[in-house]
Amino acid sequence: MTILETIQSEFHAAYPRLASGKYIHILMVRHSQSFPVFQTDGVLNVARTQAGLKTSDAMSRLVMFKRKQITPERLAGRELLRSLDLTSAIKGTENFCEYNGEDSCKKCPDCILYGFAIGDSGSERSKVYSDSAFSLSSYETSHKSFTFNAPYEGGTMSEGGQMRSAINELDHVLPEVSFPTVETLRDLTYEGFIYVLGNLMRTRRYGAQESRTGTMKNHIVGIVMADGEIFSNLHLTQALYDALKGDLQAPIDVIRQQATTVINALLDQEPVRKSQIIMGEALESLLAEVGAIYQDDAQLKAMMSTLYQQTRTYAETYGALMKKGKK
Ligand SMILES: [Zn+2]
Repeated sequence: MTILETIQSEFHAAYPRLASGKYIHILMVRHSQSFPVFQTDGVLNVARTQAGLKTSDAMSRLVMFKRKQITPERLAGRELLRSLDLTSAIKGTENFCEYNGEDSCKKCPDCILYGFAIGDSGSERSKVYSDSAFSLSSYETSHKSFTFNAPYEGGTMSEGGQMRSAINELDHVLPEVSFPTVETLRDLTYEGFIYVLGNLMRTRRYGAQESRTGTMKNHIVGIVMADGEIFSNLHLTQALYDALKGDLQAPIDVIRQQATTVINALLDQEPVRKSQIIMGEALESLLAEVGAIYQDDAQLKAMMSTLYQQTRTYAETYGALMKKGKK
C-alpha cells in the first residue's frame, strides 16, 4: 500500500459548503537559494520580535508576507492548469480565467481553492491558509543591500548619446536564510491536496517578479492532519531558534532535523485531535509518490480534470455560479 492510499480517509469526496474540521498542515522550512527581494517601497519588510520562546531578547527579523508566499504558488498552479488545457488564457473562451480580477472564472481549482473577492460579483473564501513568515536569523545577518546601475534594454549604459543615471539600490535577502512556515489546507478533496502540495513542491521563485534571482526551496518536514488549527509561523520560528541554541547558520539538514523534533514537541501541546502525523521516511515516500504523479502525463491530466469537475460542481452548487432559486 502506498502512503497516499493510507491517507484517503482524510479527504472529502466533494467540496462541502460548510467548514467541517478536516485540516491538513504542511510544515516546511522555506530556504533562500540566491538573493530574493521581499520588499515594499524599496526596503525589505522587517519586524521586531522576541528571539525565542525561552529567549526573551528582542530581535529584528525579515518578514515574508502572506501574498509573497501564496502568489507564486498560485501562478505555478495556474500555469499547470493552462498547460493541461483545463483553463485558458484567451479572453472570450469558455474556460478563460483572469488572475484575481473581474474576469476570474470563479470555478477553476485556483479560484475555488485559493479564493477570490471581486466587488459585487461574488467572493470565495480561501481554503489555503497562510500567514507572514519570519526569518530564523536576524535581519542584520540575513540581508545585503546592493547598489547597481540599471542598464538600458540593450545592456549598455548609454542610449542615443544619453548616459543612464538611474542607480538602483535594492535590499536583498542572503542565500540560505530559513523561514519556518505552516501552510494549512481546509476541507480539501484528495485531488485538491495533490494540487496545492504540488504547487509548493514546484514553486522555485519568490519575491519581486522582475528580479530573476529569487530562488527558494521549500523543504517540507511534516504533514499533519488534525481537526483544528495549530501553532503560528512565528511560534515555530521561535521554538526552532531555542532548539538551535544560537547556531542559526547551521546546515539545512541540521535545521530540518531540529525542526522535526520541535514540531513533534509543539504538536503535543496543541488542543487538537491529530489523525496523522507524517514525517521522516513516510514523508519522503509520500513526496516521491506525489512527484511521480507530476511526472506522469496521463495520471496528472486525469487527476487535475477530476479536480476541475469538483471545483466546478462546488461553484454551481454553493459558489458564485449557483443557479438562481437553488439554495
Ligand atoms: Zn478561475
